Amino acid sequence: MNTEVVSDLNVSRPIRVGILGFGGLGQAAARLLMPKREMVLVAIADKGGYVYTDEGLDGTSCITAYQTHGSVGYVESVGKLCDNSIVELITKTNSLVDGYFFALPNLPNDFIASVTKQFMAAGWQGVLVDAIKRTSAVEQLLGLQSELQDRGITYLTGCGATPGLLTAAAAIAAQSFAEIHRVAIRFGVGIANWEAYRATIREDIAHMPGYNVATAQAMSDAEVAALLDKTNGILTLENMEHADDIMLELAGICPRDRVTVGGVVDTRNPKKPLSTNVQVTGRTFEGKISTHTFTLGDETSMAANVCGPAFGYLKAGVNLHRRGMNGIYTAAEVMPQFVH
Ligand code: NAD
Repeated sequence: MNTEVVSDLNVSRPIRVGILGFGGLGQAAARLLMPKREMVLVAIADKGGYVYTDEGLDGTSCITAYQTHGSVGYVESVGKLCDNSIVELITKTNSLVDGYFFALPNLPNDFIASVTKQFMAAGWQGVLVDAIKRTSAVEQLLGLQSELQDRGITYLTGCGATPGLLTAAAAIAAQSFAEIHRVAIRFGVGIANWEAYRATIREDIAHMPGYNVATAQAMSDAEVAALLDKTNGILTLENMEHADDIMLELAGICPRDRVTVGGVVDTRNPKKPLSTNVQVTGRTFEGKISTHTFTLGDETSMAANVCGPAFGYLKAGVNLHRRGMNGIYTAAEVMPQFVH
């Protein structure tokens, strides 16, 4: 099959993409986009500023500016330093950006929902994609359904690895069964140092016994480092509040209490401590009980498994948007498209 032709039918011109948040995932997203022809990175915002160019950003200089000075606002001649970077970026560029990937911390737990409200207040129209994790955070976004629809925004939520890739895989695996008994997600993450993914690690700590989102957000970097010293850099997480449950329930796969998520994060070694997998157990129409297992390759990083799906869903979102399909969708009800 000629994939070039199929792809051109789907997308008539490169999709102009923005990234909000330029830490671990944001920078990985910029690197992932560099060789793509169907998407061009035109805008980035972080806490200290933003950068926009019509013709497309040089990802490498954005990463250098961020790593050297702490903000893309320092990118030579085009960067802008400011306190309210997201609102300023949306207001200045408006329809010049087709879709944004939120690589932002969801700290506090309503941060992404509040940013979404800023997009709506600015009258912006287009596609928004998040890699949000908590069930309660997805519930807040689902509550914006009719407003998003009225305002011409197509929002895809839970589009990282888990929730995201693994949730979508579970929805597909479920099709072999007449009834789903259990969906069990277990992830292994290996990163060389926690500072590269501060929000991810703080949000993971918030799932540990004795912690919550507010206490994890309030921890200083030194306190996080001290906690990791005590655990030898390992975070073991069980029964996490993860939106895979509500997404699979909404997709009609199974009640949310049949979905469990846990994992192990090694913050001192890029090698995964275990192979990330999702197991879907059910009963077939013939009465057989069986389990499908989908396992990610150990060499694939967290960044590859989050950012790849996020942009696949962004492309799918653009196609929905062009067909007038606005409102909110989850990663378990829309198929991501491959970005060339
Ligand atoms: P990070 O801490 O490395 O970077 C966060 C970035 O956001 C920084 O660039 C910071 O400047 C920017 N930022 C913070 N507040 C801002 C504001 N008010 N305005 C503009 N920019 C702001 O984050 P990370 O570790 O890359 O994680 C990003 C998110 O991805 C987290 O919420 C994490 O939970 C999520 N995540 C999801 C999955 C998944 O599979 N679904 C996996 C990993 C991470």
